[in-house]
Amino acid sequence: MSLTTQPLITHWIDGKHVESTGERTQPVFNPATGQEIARLGLGTAADVDRAVAVAVAAAETWSQLSLGKRAAVLFRFRDLLAARTPELAAIVSREHGKVLSDAAGEVARGLEVVEFATGLPHLLKGEYSSEAASGIDVYSFREPLGVVAGITPFNFPVMVPLWMSPVAIATGNAFVLKPSERDPSASLFLAELWQEAGLPDGVFQVVQGDKEVVDALLHHEDIAAVSFVGSTPIARYIHATASAEGKRVQALGGAKNHGVVLADADLDDAADQLAAAAFGAAGERCMALSVAVVEDAVADELVARLAEKARSVRVTAGDQPGAEMGPVITAQAKARIEGLISSAEREGAELVVDGRGRTVPGYEEGFFVGPTVIDRVAAEHEVYREEVFGPVIDVVRVSGLDEAIDVINANPYGNGTAVFTSSGEAARTFQRRVRVGMVGINVPIPVPVAWHSFGGWKDSLFGESHVYGPEGIRFYTRGKVVTQRWPHSAQRTAASYHFSGDAQK
Ligand code: NAD
Repeated sequence: MSLTTQPLITHWIDGKHVESTGERTQPVFNPATGQEIARLGLGTAADVDRAVAVAVAAAETWSQLSLGKRAAVLFRFRDLLAARTPELAAIVSREHGKVLSDAAGEVARGLEVVEFATGLPHLLKGEYSSEAASGIDVYSFREPLGVVAGITPFNFPVMVPLWMSPVAIATGNAFVLKPSERDPSASLFLAELWQEAGLPDGVFQVVQGDKEVVDALLHHEDIAAVSFVGSTPIARYIHATASAEGKRVQALGGAKNHGVVLADADLDDAADQLAAAAFGAAGERCMALSVAVVEDAVADELVARLAEKARSVRVTAGDQPGAEMGPVITAQAKARIEGLISSAEREGAELVVDGRGRTVPGYEEGFFVGPTVIDRVAAEHEVYREEVFGPVIDVVRVSGLDEAIDVINANPYGNGTAVFTSSGEAARTFQRRVRVGMVGINVPIPVPVAWHSFGGWKDSLFGESHVYGPEGIRFYTRGKVVTQRWPHSAQRTAASYHFSGDAQK
């Protein structure tokens, strides 16, 4: 297809599609066909300036609107999102590659955060101390920050923006989204839904682009807070840069999630859960279980079951009937993942199921990697040290629970983990000793429901706030405390020039 006939993907500024002021564009692919399907106009600092100026004014009026009116917009947005899920899932599947049902599942997890945010009148209730001192009341409440930015990864083009924006908007802020440049269209669909829901223009905006736009956001004086989700090196950079600018930052990074299988686990269930958590979404989930840490006594049996599952996954384009796993995001990602599988073979691990060179009939140019199982992986192997972000599961054999916990705690990442066991005592020990932010007990991908908060430890999160849930409300607001006194003759006191507890009582 020639460049001139391809659709140009725009920004969304002040309630309208707006083309970038810059010259640079980048291809957007359908990963299943390997074909370029659109071009993305990459934004500039001037585009960021324009969006932020609009956001400053929009935040001012939006934050003055009553809680009830704001909640009504959230309710309408919730209904539209639910009704339009199939369309949104198709957009996600086309640019990301994940299967339609998984894309719809991602929308559903985002929807949950919207539902949480509809409770804003309750969530923003303050605290009140009546008669804190004679004739004096003290009350505290939280106010919005103003304009906040979200910078999001390719792997959840709907869910991750919805981890942030409903909470930021419900609490009275204006939100500027910089989506991933690999699958940017879902962000524009979300923008249109917000508008249809009655959100005033400028409260949710999208500036497309790459590092140039990110840097302009990080250094912009009118951006009060930055939420980031992506890889660890970029998360570290975002946290350092935005913090140095005096902004509030939450920067969620990469992961290497371990699923521990103890000898007393239900092996059929554990193998099912591990396979789904390793190969679902082609392993491109920050909560994917990419390492199975297996007690020696059951390792042969578990590896055999995992191998059988890996061989039976239906790999094809995400929009095909019965598809269970689609392609990975780009040709570069495919080459990188296949390179890591080769390194494991070279370094002495045992390649049980090899997904390299996988082709799918009818989609020969697609970026497919087959499900891969690698046994006897050691901590020094490159495939273990790197976040593979593909449909690859490493098997690490251990003597028991203590060694499993040591393996996990020695890893620099701390996003999610799971233990499969029938022992409550083992599960409790695991839960207490493991240094990871989100723990599953016989649950493979323990992404917290929306009224708890999501966040990892160690190199999986920079900054002290998790996203959405109660921590999201705190992140997007700041506290104000009022001490009030209404002087009248009975309680009027003479001027006091010393600061003492007595003066107040
Ligand atoms: P990425 O870090 O390459 O990109 C994330 C965002 O940062 C994108 O918007 C991108 O445009 C921007 N970016 C990329 N390079 C940049 C640079 N040099 N300077 C400034 N901005 C830059 O991540 P990705 O490949 O899109 O997503 C996959 C990664 O995200 C994986 O590491 C995965 O584990 C992680 N992730 C983590 C979570 C979590 O909750 N911890 C959730 C989803 C994804």
